[in-house]
Amino acid sequence: MEKRYNGNKYVYFFGGGKADGNESMKNLLGGKGANLAEMAGHPKLRLPVPPGFTITTEVCTYFYDNKKRYPKELKAQAEAALEKMEKLMGKKFGDEKNPLLVSIRSGARRSMPGMMETVLNVGLNEKTIKGIIAQSGDERFAYDAYRRLIMMYADVVMEKGGNIEVKNGKGIRKILDEKLEHIKNSKGYKSDTELTAEELKELVKDYKKTVKKVLGTEFPDDPFEQMWGGVGAVFASWNGKRAIEYRRIEKIPNEWGTAVNVQAMVFGNMGDDCCTGVAFTRNPGNGENQFYGEYLVNAQGEDVVAGIRTPAPVNEYSKNAQSEHFTALEKLMPELYKELYTIQRRLEKHYKDMQDIEFTIEKGKLYMLQCRVGKRNGIAAVQMATDMYKEKLIDAKTAVMRVGPNQLVELLLPMLDPKAELIAPIIAKGLPAGPGGAKGRVVFTSAGAVEWASRGEKVILVREETSPEDVDGMHKAQAILTTKGGMTSHAALVARGWGKCCIVGCSDIEIHTETKNFHAKNGVVVKEGDWISLNGTRGQVYEGSMALVDIDIDKNQSYKDLMKLVDKTKQIGVRANCETPGDAITAVKFGAEGIGLFRTEHMFYGEGSEQPLFLLRKMIVSKTEEERRDALNSLFIYVKKDVKDTLTVMNGYPVTIRLLDPPLHEFVPHDKEKLKQLSKELGISMGMLNRRVLALHENNPMLGHRGVRLGISYPEITEMQVRAIFEAAAELNKEGKKAFPEIMVPVTVIAHELRHQKEIVDRVYKEVCEKMGVKKIPYLYGTMIETPRAALRAEFMANVADFFSFGTNDLTQMSFGFSRDDIGGFLPKYLDLKILPDDPFQTIDQEGIGQLIKVGTERGRITKPKLKVGICGEHGGDPESVKFCHRIGMDYVSCSPYRVPIARLAAAQAALESPRK
Ligand code: PEP
Ligand code: MG
Repeated sequence: MEKRYNGNKYVYFFGGGKADGNESMKNLLGGKGANLAEMAGHPKLRLPVPPGFTITTEVCTYFYDNKKRYPKELKAQAEAALEKMEKLMGKKFGDEKNPLLVSIRSGARRSMPGMMETVLNVGLNEKTIKGIIAQSGDERFAYDAYRRLIMMYADVVMEKGGNIEVKNGKGIRKILDEKLEHIKNSKGYKSDTELTAEELKELVKDYKKTVKKVLGTEFPDDPFEQMWGGVGAVFASWNGKRAIEYRRIEKIPNEWGTAVNVQAMVFGNMGDDCCTGVAFTRNPGNGENQFYGEYLVNAQGEDVVAGIRTPAPVNEYSKNAQSEHFTALEKLMPELYKELYTIQRRLEKHYKDMQDIEFTIEKGKLYMLQCRVGKRNGIAAVQMATDMYKEKLIDAKTAVMRVGPNQLVELLLPMLDPKAELIAPIIAKGLPAGPGGAKGRVVFTSAGAVEWASRGEKVILVREETSPEDVDGMHKAQAILTTKGGMTSHAALVARGWGKCCIVGCSDIEIHTETKNFHAKNGVVVKEGDWISLNGTRGQVYEGSMALVDIDIDKNQSYKDLMKLVDKTKQIGVRANCETPGDAITAVKFGAEGIGLFRTEHMFYGEGSEQPLFLLRKMIVSKTEEERRDALNSLFIYVKKDVKDTLTVMNGYPVTIRLLDPPLHEFVPHDKEKLKQLSKELGISMGMLNRRVLALHENNPMLGHRGVRLGISYPEITEMQVRAIFEAAAELNKEGKKAFPEIMVPVTVIAHELRHQKEIVDRVYKEVCEKMGVKKIPYLYGTMIETPRAALRAEFMANVADFFSFGTNDLTQMSFGFSRDDIGGFLPKYLDLKILPDDPFQTIDQEGIGQLIKVGTERGRITKPKLKVGICGEHGGDPESVKFCHRIGMDYVSCSPYRVPIARLAAAQAALESPRK
């Protein structure tokens, strides 16, 4: 673990136009702390930020390294900062007459929405409450703040922070909440705001008694004890269950730690001339350059994010179906709105990126409580990057770096079939928080989603609202549907971060947890397990399972603009793995510059494969070369057509055609009818045929009779395939098209294998040239490097090969010794326990497999400095792996057609991060 603790400065002050820290200090101050410092202290900003101080992330590390103790300097530093706050605010912490209250919030390097704890109104007690009543002139408000403090403190600091086990599944927050509900019910109140000062006063008394009774200790009335308790609880929440879970999903290292921000409280809930809100400098849902946000009158910040009340729009633009009848802030408080509007423009200009801001208005004064780079979905990310580039806010490099390669998936995401949508009745409408289409079976709990998904079911998580406890289920679900909350609610925020289809605030449906169903306004009842379909781009819910269709990417102008910049930047090629002309068309549409892997055996699977498969089987169970040649001759026309169809689509682009690879046993027939037909065709008895089939059995087929070994045992198979390739290419060239086949030999281990096959290739090449009357058929001869030995002996392999293509699926399988078909049994545990950081079949294990790839490339190029090198394993579409391939000097990557744009963007980013000469 990284240890620093140098400098002994643990507290960074901000406020009054000054700040000890700044935006560049995220590692030390956390995102929130660094940005508060920047907003408060940067000479170009100096925004109205309530003063406060940040306790550094180093203290969190120290706390965990030293049995939850603090560095000795911390207390004095914090108290000095508190004094400064007091001076600026003209109030005193713990003072009876004019008390200062503070909030205590977490803030890690990267935002972890709602995963850690917050305590508000710290400093309130039986004495200071008098001062608050005097300050605010509002007894009701003061007691409301007090009961909120007791509830939060008891939950966060005393119960969770104190590791107190919850009895009967009912935590202190729930117990206290029920007391509040009880009063509301008995008085017939609908909202919390109807409670009188007297009732709240009684409630506070009751809360205190209950806390003592349930948790065994008194709620502390000493303000300093409250503050340090709050600080400790925030540090403790870094290692809370849900924070750990979130870090695992988001790959945030445990050792980063969180900072703690102690800040003067300002109140958005001091009456109807107060409010609090969350806003974005551009629309995070679609990327439009429009100020977009929500606010709640007479509320605390948490109320907006919790999605308990439907928030109002900050302006006309932010109105939606749920909020159109609310008054926009720009109407309610036009002057303050103008101030907020100007600040958000300044912030975006300063940070040169879309900002997510939190603000509070307390009795006619605007305060900025937070700003950070706003999360956005893929569609918005692309739109904003290209817009900001056009506005000259950012340069081309920044635009290319602004979009996460995986975010592009959302632009390519399937959507509900528009034709089906046209005729299907919409059962409910909500807010479009996460675009794309999704279908799945309804589940009502996060645990349910996890459980159903583990059985391979596609589920949609339907909840009133989500909380950080739900992240696992949200992650496993195809989509999320909530009945409450706005575009800034937890569900919307999290879904946006993941690029998941999501609809929030769908008040047209009512969930009945007891009967496990929901009722839509139009009378439709949907039970747990029933299928529904969501259009997350429009916020529409449908009954049943609707077809999903692909999006026409060419209609998205900002995508096209971005990809133009990408292609100008990237320094390696991107090809696709394709087996059919249809795949090839898709690949070209997505920008593939060739096919990096055409698996010939694909023609024996799926539609139209019946006859070629029969002939292949006939060949497999043949005994003599003559029998085999007979079957191969019949198969030839199918192979030639298959190859020619794809070469035709790829006109002018290279196509790497791999010779037959899978173990023959994969094709052995088991069906009695098929066996009978075969025995008849071969003129042998069923008994004899069965013996031949049995003889093909292998114990470890993936390490058995496969790849080049087939071509060595049966040279006539290679001969037939090569002839088909050359004839197809020669015919196309004669027709005025351009065919560039690259013949690739799989699963090689030694150069002699390549030599053996090359003799066949050379001979057939001559024969075809003669037969077709052509002088030349352009082609390359190369090999996959997918065994460790081939990588280590690459110098020799390159003597015979014009190109290498790293087959990292097999290379990973053979180097780890992990069967790629059986990892499900143990890999999840490896990942859980962090024995392996990632699934090596998804992203290249750079320290191990990466070494083999690097060595293989370098050694191959000792023999042939211009040796063409690519990759065609699944990793070719993984951004980190693409970047690795760029760095080690590969010529191209090849991946599935749908990942081509992702690989292109990753390649461009790699070129910016580590440019090649
Ligand atoms: C590989 O092994 O990486 C590869 C691309 O081949 P296959 O997945 O067909 O074995
Ligand atoms: Mg392979």
